[in-house]
Amino acid sequence: MKILVCVSVVPDTTTKITFTDNDTVFNRSGVQFIMNPYDELSLTRALELTETTGGSVTVITIGEADTDPIIRKALAMGATDAIRVDASPKDGMYVAAQIAEQAKEYDLVFTGRESIDYNGGQVQGLVAEMLQWPLINVATQIDLENNEVVASRDIDGGREVVKSSLPCVISAQKDLCEPRIPNMRGIMMARSKPLNVVAATDKYDYTKVSKYELPPAKSGVKMIDAENAEQLIDILHNEEKLF
Ligand SMILES: Cc1cc2nc3c(=O)[nH]c(=O)nc-3n(C[C@H](O)[C@H](O)[C@H](O)COP(=O)(O)OP(=O)(O)OC[C@H]3O[C@@H](n4cnc5c(N)ncnc54)[C@H](O)[C@@H]3O)c2cc1C
Repeated sequence: MKILVCVSVVPDTTTKITFTDNDTVFNRSGVQFIMNPYDELSLTRALELTETTGGSVTVITIGEADTDPIIRKALAMGATDAIRVDASPKDGMYVAAQIAEQAKEYDLVFTGRESIDYNGGQVQGLVAEMLQWPLINVATQIDLENNEVVASRDIDGGREVVKSSLPCVISAQKDLCEPRIPNMRGIMMARSKPLNVVAATDKYDYTKVSKYELPPAKSGVKMIDAENAEQLIDILHNEEKLF
């Protein structure tokens, strides 16, 4: 069983976002980057599955050299080896094309349900379409039975259990498992595991950022005495014009 796990490197959620070059480039300086939390889950589950059934887990990231520390973290968690497609990820379509290009030899492609920076939730569907493989999206449980994938998905008021033949693309939803924390032995071993840097394909290189804008700053909180309902009504009526 060969599993390819897609790992997106994203800014920590406490990051203060700024832009450069006339608001056309995200300013990476001083930003703390982390492994996308949903990808930590899919990687952990891929490791658990191969530890039971045998096989290998390869991690793939589309990114520049500054993503290497996060890729090494994935190797320290237990991945066998890693691929970094040496490119600045531009959008979901471009990222999916890079993954599809590398994925053909694998039995399973694991992704997160979304990357927490651009929140597209689209890469997994695009990869599946490009490879013409089935997709099981937002899985909360993933198992392998008789060379098939059996996965559960939360649906309105219940759960859905789906099966798919291999090869297949699966995206991880929270609750899939507890993310694995690298131990000291893993960290030492990760230093000598292969991290193969490959060139990007120019397929689907369509978009260019024209401008970034931050949302308008929120106005300050107005404290109203709990006993002073009249002031609250006055604000809601005359300032906020809610009625
Ligand atoms: C500094 C910087 C600037 C960026 N600027 C832009 C930009 O301007 N516009 C833009 O759209 N994107 C930009 N990206 C890329 C962005 O991080 C995503 O990789 C890409 O846009 C896909 O995002 P998404 O929300 O559609 O992914 P989703 O569809 O939400 O991701 C789903 C899953 O796909 C996989 N995946 C996503 N991205 C990657 C990746 N890069 N490598 C491996 N697996 C991945 C992960 O498993 C993830 O859980 C930038 C990234 C960085 C680090």
